[in-house]
Amino acid sequence: MKQLVAPSFSASDLFDDCVEEISNAALRSRLVAHKPGIEDVYASYDAHSQTQTWSSLPKARRGHGDDKIVGNLTKAELVSLYNKGMVSSKGAARKKYDQLKLAALDECPYCGGCGELIASEGIGTLDHFLPKARYPAFSILPINLIPACATCNTGMGSKFPTDPNLQPLHPYCDAAHFFEEKWTSLVVSEEIPVVVGFDVAIPDHWDAKDGARVLQHFKDCKLRSRYRKQSASDLSSVIDQRKTAFRGLSPEAFRAGLLSVAWNTKLPINGWKRTLHQGLAASDWFCRFDFAQ
Ligand SMILES: [Zn+2]
Repeated sequence: MKQLVAPSFSASDLFDDCVEEISNAALRSRLVAHKPGIEDVYASYDAHSQTQTWSSLPKARRGHGDDKIVGNLTKAELVSLYNKGMVSSKGAARKKYDQLKLAALDECPYCGGCGELIASEGIGTLDHFLPKARYPAFSILPINLIPACATCNTGMGSKFPTDPNLQPLHPYCDAAHFFEEKWTSLVVSEEIPVVVGFDVAIPDHWDAKDGARVLQHFKDCKLRSRYRKQSASDLSSVIDQRKTAFRGLSPEAFRAGLLSVAWNTKLPINGWKRTLHQGLAASDWFCRFDFAQ
């Protein structure tokens, strides 16, 4: 749920770079010959991005690497453009691969940054928004390659819904309101020990499809449990501060401190940290309770 600026290099350039890395000369010349056909397929991705209807793009069968996908290019050959042409490359294609991964700036756009990007390999993974196992023609389409943490990447797996209402959010192509409006919420137990729960709160003016999509995104990325886990140490340090340094603050002043984090526009609006602080500030009980008693 963090919007990303689309990659700056063209699909055509990345295709050329990846083809150059293919060692099999016969395959290389077939790929070059099929470039116009592949560009037509890329144009269909762009068209479906305009209407957020990726779910109606044709899917390849699971397995069946010999199935012909574009002209006589097979599924396995198109996937090898990513594995051999891009990931294993030491040239320009690999540079673009690294550039795509680094664009997340340590915050996975699907979960808004739950820590795993930094904790795991430093720069995380590259997710195929439309999985290459089902959409091999998009295996190296830049707009389909999303820097993501391993948990979100694994969570989405190789499935993609056929129902447009269940499509995950697309960090490059989706509408701005998904990334700029609040659609996560917090429930505070209002008893000791304080327990918080994260949920989805769909804005009233959204249509049903958008509401269904954020609900599904929340589920796919397992945000309920991951946000709760991630927020535990912030919650306990807020309570510790309220017992000590902030004990003398009025409820209003304490709430103002919580809101300064909730409104920090450098953090994703629907990320765990802003949602936590917003929810705590909204609880009158939490702001008034004497934790030091
Ligand atoms: Zn993530």
